[in-house]
Formats: sequence, C-alpha cells, structure tokens
Amino acid sequence: MAKVAIIGGGIGGLMAAYRLKQNNKDINITIFDSGHMIEKRHCPANKNMGCVHCKVCSITCGFAGAGAFSDGKFNLGTAYGGTLGEALGEDVANEYINEVDKVLESFAGENYPKLFLSNEELKLKCLQNNLRLLDMNVRHLGTDKNLQTMESLIKWLKENGVELVSDTTIKEIKISGKEHILIGETGELTKADKVVIATGRGGAKFVTEFCEKNGINMDSNSVDIGVRVEMKDIIWREFSSAIYEPKILYRTKTFEDRTRMFCFNQGGLVSAENNHGIITANGHSYAEPEKKTENCNFAILSSIHFTKPFNKPTEYAEYIARMANMIGNGNVLVQRFGDLIRGRRTNDHRLGQNTVIPTLRATAGDLSLVLPHRMLTNIIETIYALDKVAPGTANDDTLLYGCENKYYSIRPQTDSDFRLTEGVYLIGDGSGITRGLSQAGAMGLYIADKMF
Ligand SMILES: Cc1cc2nc3c(=O)[nH]c(=O)nc-3n(C[C@H](O)[C@H](O)[C@H](O)COP(=O)(O)OP(=O)(O)OC[C@H]3O[C@@H](n4cnc5c(N)ncnc54)[C@H](O)[C@@H]3O)c2cc1C
Repeated sequence: MAKVAIIGGGIGGLMAAYRLKQNNKDINITIFDSGHMIEKRHCPANKNMGCVHCKVCSITCGFAGAGAFSDGKFNLGTAYGGTLGEALGEDVANEYINEVDKVLESFAGENYPKLFLSNEELKLKCLQNNLRLLDMNVRHLGTDKNLQTMESLIKWLKENGVELVSDTTIKEIKISGKEHILIGETGELTKADKVVIATGRGGAKFVTEFCEKNGINMDSNSVDIGVRVEMKDIIWREFSSAIYEPKILYRTKTFEDRTRMFCFNQGGLVSAENNHGIITANGHSYAEPEKKTENCNFAILSSIHFTKPFNKPTEYAEYIARMANMIGNGNVLVQRFGDLIRGRRTNDHRLGQNTVIPTLRATAGDLSLVLPHRMLTNIIETIYALDKVAPGTANDDTLLYGCENKYYSIRPQTDSDFRLTEGVYLIGDGSGITRGLSQAGAMGLYIADKMF
C-alpha cells in the first residue's frame, strides 16, 4: 500500500489528504505538524495578556494551519491570493478553487455563507481616484464557522484512517532510492513513498534547506512590509456591505512603488502573531454579530522586489519587524496617524483619548523610527489616496500597528505538477505560489489528483 507523508496540517496539507483518501481509501497517510491539534490551539494573547512568545505560536501553527483563527475569507478566483492561475492556467486553477469551496460547503454544516460578488460602481469610484479595486467573488466564513469547518474536515480525515501527528517538527527529508525518510527532532519518524511539503510561510527555512541540499534552484521574489490600519467600521461600510472585502492596489506618487490594501476585517480585531520570536500585526473578525467590534482593520503593504546580489528579502523584513519589537519592548507598535504626520510618537495619554479604541494591546510609539523612509512615504500616500474613496481613512485618530510583513520570498523551481524532486511535492504558501486559503487548498487537491 502506498504511503504518503504530509508535512504541515494547514489547508494545503488537509485538502491533499482529503482528496488522496477520496481517490483511494486504502492509501496510508500521515500528516505531521509542529503545532498542536486543533482543539489544543490557544493563544494566551486572547486572554488579554499580550504575546507571551510561545515556542510554537498557536495562531500560525498546528492543525488547520495559519488560517485556523483567520477571518475565513475565501477568495474564489485568481486575481489575488497567489499566482495559481499563471501556474495551472486560469480555467484549471478556477476549477480547483471552486472545488475547495464545495469541499468546505460539505463540512460547514447549515447556513453556508452567501457569496459576495464584485461591484462595478465601487470599481469606477476607485479608478477615478487612481486606485484599482480588484475583482473577486468572496465567501466569508468568519473565524468561528471557519474553525468549525476545519474541525469537521479534520474529524473526517481521522475517521477515514489518516494519522495526525501533532507537536512534531520535521527537520529533514533524507532520500534513499525511492524511499523518503522523515527526520524529526529525536531522529527517524517514518518512511514514505511520497512526501508533500505543505509547511506554509513559516516553513521557509525548511524548504530552503531542502532545496539547497537537493540542488533545486530558488527564485527569490518580493516581500511586503507595512502596517495594520484600524479605524471606525463605518468609514468603510459602503465597501464592506457591498463586496465584503475591498482589496485595492495603488501606485505611489513619490517612488512609483506598488502598495496594496488587503485583508480587510469588518467589525474586526487586530491581532499579534509570533513568527519565530518576531511579533507582527495581523487582523481577523468574527461572523457572529455579537462578536463584532466598532472598528474595521486592514493591511497596507509596500512591495519590494530585490535584485542581485541581495537575496534575503525575508531576513530584511524580519530585521525591520524586530526593530519595531525592540522599541515596542517585545511587542507590536501602535501609532495614531495624526501623530505620525506631526512627527511625534504616540504615548499612552494620547492613545487613551483616541476616538478609535485599539483592539490590540500594543506599545504606543513611533513607526517613523522603524520603517524605512521609502515604505513610510508609500504608506502615508496610500492612506491619503484611500481617504478619497472612504473619507475618514486619513483621520488623526486612525491607528497604525507595525509591522505587518508578508513573507513569500522563496519560490523553488518545480515541475508542472509541483514536484520538487522524485516523490516530493511542494504546495501552499511555502511554494511561493499561493498567498491565501483558497489557492493553497486548491494546490492540495490538484497534487493529490496528479500523484498516482
Ligand atoms: C491571522 C491570519 C489571518 C489570515 N486570514 C486569511 C483569510 O481570511 N483568507 C485567506 O485566504 N488567507 C488568510 N490568511 C493566510 C492563510 O492562512 C494562508 O494563506 C494559508 O493558511 C496557507 O495554507 P498552507 O497550508 O500553505 O500553510 P499553513 O496554513 O501556514 O500551514 C502550514 C503548517 O505547517 C506546519 N509546519 C511548518 N513547518 C513544519 C515542519 N518543519 N514540520 C512540521 N510542521 C510544519 C505549521 O505548523 C502549519 O500548521 C491568514 C493568515 C493569518 C496568519
């Protein structure tokens, strides 16, 4: 009986296991994850303690992956969330993305949320102000429904014989002929015919080391650095009530760089996440009305594409985030937009008087001491541009949390079936191809169909 080992229990790994079992119920599958089982994933910061720097972050690691406590926004298309459309062709990519939606629906139980469709009027309003609103149909499960759906999917996998191994980091894959030996912290864990690497963004080091050892070329592409922005929810309600999640691109005036507004959370909460000891900002929101806040939040990120000889974009972004942590006494910084513009730090006194009440306990400070001039300028210009379509965005009381980084810098070369080398597949955000739940899940379904 063929044996498949999957490294990483995020949506990519789970969807791969699901489709492999659907295709052949006798297949032997084990999924390993560094983090806990889904029911044991608890973030101490949720108890208002702030980030306590857990060895393995329960927000980003564990079964159900980085998306477990996310807002559960499934972007059903290829316009953003990765470049799967380029890799597979638009038709095939969309077919698999829609299959992810169907799988989720089958596990979501009653009241599967409605689809938010794209909106021409808002698109025009943005275009008239030099902003590009991206077209996409979005299914918003919300944090709670998303978690419950993932729990049902994981339960199905267990009931169908998939072995789930938590709290186990794979350090290395040794290849001996057709056999793949998975090495953990304590030595050999298992042997498998096929291995799926689905280690997400957090697995960048693991993937790099595997590629270096096996002579696989890696392209390093962009990294995004920026802030999480929080304001009163009503400011963006025209957009959020029509399309749920505005994702907007802008080309800045001074540097002609590309910035993007994305990961919008209506009635949401700003959160801190721990990426191997580096604390960065993020955001999410609950679908249930009683869990909504008065605020909305979104990311504004400035993209940088490094060229030779520099090839360490992740390290660069981490260095900046670490500086924010240094000034923030181990925490994310928060600054009022009005203070940033006036060249002064935010202090607890001014934060206490702010009309926008922060939903994350962060350290009041000064982002201009952290973000390079180019990125800071890009972010400020983007906030003023967004203010034209959603007046109030550039209010003094708007809060900026820093840093928020998106790391997807390495893109190892694979064949057209996402095979790195004989029997080893690379899927999801760790492949540098996807940047979101739908496309990561779609990649899992796709390789499962191609594997045998
Ligand atoms: C707070 C937050 C909110 C988000 N919100 C959204 C959203 O609303 N919509 C959206 O589309 N996307 C969202 N995203 C992004 C989305 O979560 C990711 O795109 C998606 O989870 C990628 O799936 P993946 O399977 O590739 O990797 P991941 O979900 O990152 O899973 C990888 C898993 O691999 C494990 N792992 C890593 N290395 C090893 C190793 N060496 N050995 C064993 N296990 C390992 C990790 O513990 C992790 O559980 C959000 C992300 C975060 C952090």
